[in-house]
Amino acid sequence: MKSSIMSLSVSRQQAVAATAVAAFIVATVLAVLRFASVPGPTITPFLPMFAMAVLFTEGLTAYLLWTQFMITRQPFLAALGGAYGYTAVAVAIQLPVFPGVFSPTGLLGAGPQSAVLIWAFWHAGTPLLMIAALFVGRCFPAALGPARPARRIGAALFGLPVCASVAVCALAIHGASWLPDLISGGSYKALLTSPTGIAIGILSVTALGYAVVTTRLRTLLDLWLSVALLAGLADVALTMFASSRYSVGWYVARMESVLASSTVLGVLIWEISHLYRELHAANAQLSEFAARDGLTGLYNRRAFDDRYRQALDHAHTNRGALSILMIDIDHFKRYNDTLGHLHGDQCLIAVAHALQGALRRNSDFVARYGGEEFVVVLPDCEHDMAARIGESLRKAVARLAIDGPFTEAGHVTASVGIATFSEASHAPAVDLLAHADAALYRAKAAGRDRVAAWPDASTTTVCATPATPSAQPVERTVATGNAA
Ligand code: GH3
Ligand code: MG
Ligand code: MG
Repeated sequence: MKSSIMSLSVSRQQAVAATAVAAFIVATVLAVLRFASVPGPTITPFLPMFAMAVLFTEGLTAYLLWTQFMITRQPFLAALGGAYGYTAVAVAIQLPVFPGVFSPTGLLGAGPQSAVLIWAFWHAGTPLLMIAALFVGRCFPAALGPARPARRIGAALFGLPVCASVAVCALAIHGASWLPDLISGGSYKALLTSPTGIAIGILSVTALGYAVVTTRLRTLLDLWLSVALLAGLADVALTMFASSRYSVGWYVARMESVLASSTVLGVLIWEISHLYRELHAANAQLSEFAARDGLTGLYNRRAFDDRYRQALDHAHTNRGALSILMIDIDHFKRYNDTLGHLHGDQCLIAVAHALQGALRRNSDFVARYGGEEFVVVLPDCEHDMAARIGESLRKAVARLAIDGPFTEAGHVTASVGIATFSEASHAPAVDLLAHADAALYRAKAAGRDRVAAWPDASTTTVCATPATPSAQPVERTVATGNAA
């Protein structure tokens, strides 16, 4: 089973989907770039909506990457989580600082440059941290060792960018006088040609190029991380060409930003559901494995106990009948002693298959009760039908014609004991098994290779027995192979 997001390879559909999204991003930029600076309507609720969407997706991505790191101990995941955490914090601080959202000039002591400076730190820091995370992944591809130091290293890789985000946002708000002026009179046109803007552009292009070249888009995460970086680059290009807030380019850039923040989240969610599917399949396989007998492949004793209990409940609830057949191979000890245990095992497998093959209804099932003893459960089966099935199972074993010179028949045979639960009998579960066992004992005592039934109200016609049959076991059998 695949266990980590870093081991999920790219399927054809994923490659097609990522190419389509990348083409959409590029097409959007090419279509909008010429009109980027055209003023649009000032929809003030747009910014909080956008900020909340990005905060939610970036925050959730950071959290999921951290949990992935805790599971896999891959330092790359902690570092990448830190990059997403950095952005989430910057968005969270930019929202109250943005002029016109909570107050005309912004909260937290914001000045006119604060929001745009936070944007600059955000869009410079994110690609820088992505490059750093990819670098960490390249230099330390192996999972970290012991739990404690690994957690500390991970916490540093994740926590430092988050703290750095708080620090640069505080600087953007309270240290604007030391930083370049990027906006004046509502226009940040100067950003495009300023060293800050050029540095942000170079970092965005470098991060995308570095991601594509170093990862070669091998895993699903590599692929969608590169798409996220492309969307981030589109966001940067459109924002800078937009020149002012609430212009066409500014709105479309915000949408690119949402796309940039949600692609890796999509991968993480996909991976979680993928792993869940695998886990479910593995669990079903494991349950089936645990329910089977290793030698014969039949249900084992534990599975029998469960299924038998269900069958009995069903019979009680529906006032139906339930028949149990106990089947034991005759003189099997001699078989082992004469031919060896390996042949004995082969014989057990053949008998098991013969019993399984002789059952017709889906609800009937056979289990290995223990040793060379089998039990067959026949839900909704009255005694007469059970006697007929018992006889067909006895014949199925005889038909195998496995050499057994030490038996009366000259080949391997089996004896069958039958007990039936019906409304009239009201026998508790444990009694039904004990009755089938007692009937089997009778079949053995009567000469083997035959079917015997436990008597109750429904069985008196086929098996006459005294009131305390376990003490007086030998009675008339319902069918005999040797006698027939
Ligand atoms: P009976 O006709 O009265 O049943 O005689 P029996 O010799 O078959 O007596 P019993 O049922 O007590 O025999 C059980 C034998 O089954 C003993 C043991 O050697 C053999 N046996 C139990 N489990 C296995 C197994 O997994 N493989 C092999 N080869 N033999 C087994
Ligand atoms: Mg036996
Ligand atoms: Mg036995």
